[in-house]
Amino acid sequence: MKKCLVLLENNQPNLPLELLEVAHRIFEKSSVFTVGLPLDSQIASSAEYFDVLVHAEGSQIPAYDTANIALIAAKLHEEYGFDCIIVPATNYGRMVAPRLAMRLDVGLVADVTGLEQVNGQLEMIRPAYSGKLFAGIVKKGMGPLMMTIRPGVFPAATNPFKTTQHRVFPFQRKSSGITFIGSREKPATKDIRDSEVLISGGGGVLEHFSRLQDLSEALRGQVSASRRIVDSGVASRKIQVGQSGKTVSPRLYIALGIYGSVQHMEGLKNVQHLISVNIDPLAPICSLADVVVVGDAVDFIDQLLKRIQR
Ligand SMILES: Cc1cc2nc3c(=O)[nH]c(=O)nc-3n(C[C@H](O)[C@H](O)[C@H](O)COP(=O)(O)OP(=O)(O)OC[C@H]3O[C@@H](n4cnc5c(N)ncnc54)[C@H](O)[C@@H]3O)c2cc1C
Repeated sequence: MKKCLVLLENNQPNLPLELLEVAHRIFEKSSVFTVGLPLDSQIASSAEYFDVLVHAEGSQIPAYDTANIALIAAKLHEEYGFDCIIVPATNYGRMVAPRLAMRLDVGLVADVTGLEQVNGQLEMIRPAYSGKLFAGIVKKGMGPLMMTIRPGVFPAATNPFKTTQHRVFPFQRKSSGITFIGSREKPATKDIRDSEVLISGGGGVLEHFSRLQDLSEALRGQVSASRRIVDSGVASRKIQVGQSGKTVSPRLYIALGIYGSVQHMEGLKNVQHLISVNIDPLAPICSLADVVVVGDAVDFIDQLLKRIQR
C-alpha cells in the first residue's frame, strides 16, 4: 500500500477532493492510504475524505506559521514514510512546500497542472517560462515524490470515502520568530474559480468592458477577462483566465470578443458549457464552444439583457 500526505487549507471548497483525485491518479484509489493534514478543525470538517485526518495537538496553527507546519509534516513523514506529498499551489502551499522539501532533502515540482505516464514513469507536467512551454518532470532519487498542485485543474475525486480515523498528533509549537502584529480584513471579492457562471471579455469588448457587469449580475455570475484586457489596464489580474491567470471550472462560460489563444484556452479545460460571441466564426475559441453567436458582443449583451428582463 502506498502512502500519501495531503496538506489542506481553506482556500476553495473543492480543493481537498481535487488533491485526493491527484493521489488516486498517481497510485490508483485502491492502493493508496491517504493522510490529510488540515490547518484547523474548520478545514478538517470540510475535508473528511482521507483515510486519516491528523490534528496537531494543542493550538491551532496559523497559516503564516509555515515553519511549524513544515515541521509537523516532516515529523509525520518520519513516522509514516510517505511515498508522495501533495500540497496545494496556493499562497499557503507555496510557502510551506519549499520549507518541507528542504527539511526532507527532496526535490519539489511546483505548480503541477497535469500527470502523465510515459514509458512506465510518472511525468509531472507544469508550465515553464511563463507558460511558453510545458515541462514534463520525472522524479529521480530517493525520498517522497513531492509536488504542489494548481487549484481548479483536476476534477474532484468521485465517491470518496468518509474519514473514519481522526488522530491527534502530539506537537509542541516552536517559536518561529514571527510575531503577530494584527490583521486587517481585505474587502471580500469572490474568486472567479468559485463561480458557476463567468461572463468573460476579451479584446473585442475592450472599450465596453464595464457592460459585462450588468450581464453577470443578471445571470448571478462574475466577470472574468482575457490577458488582453488585463494588460490594457482595464481589469485586475485576479480575474484573468488562462495559463498565466486562473484555471476556471464554471458551468457556463460566456466568451465575449475572445479569440481563443492557446494560453487562454489552457484555463478553460474544465468548463462545462461554453458560448462564444465573436464577429469572426473562425476564431479558435468557436471550435471549442457549444454555441457560437456570430456578431457584435455588445449587441449580444443588450439583446440578452432585454430577454432576461422580459
Ligand atoms: C507566456 C504567455 C502567457 C499568456 N497567458 C495568457 C493567459 O493566461 N490568458 C490569456 O487570455 N492570454 C494569455 N496570453 C496572451 C494570448 O496569447 C493572447 O494574446 C490573448 O489571449 C488575446 O486576448 P483576446 O482573445 O481577448 O484578444 P484578441 O486577440 O485581440 O482577440 C479579440 C477577438 O475579439 C473578436 N472581436 C473583435 N471585435 C468584436 C466585437 N465587436 N464583437 C465580438 N467579437 C469581436 C475578434 O474577432 C477576436 O477574435 C499569454 C501570452 C503569452 C506569450
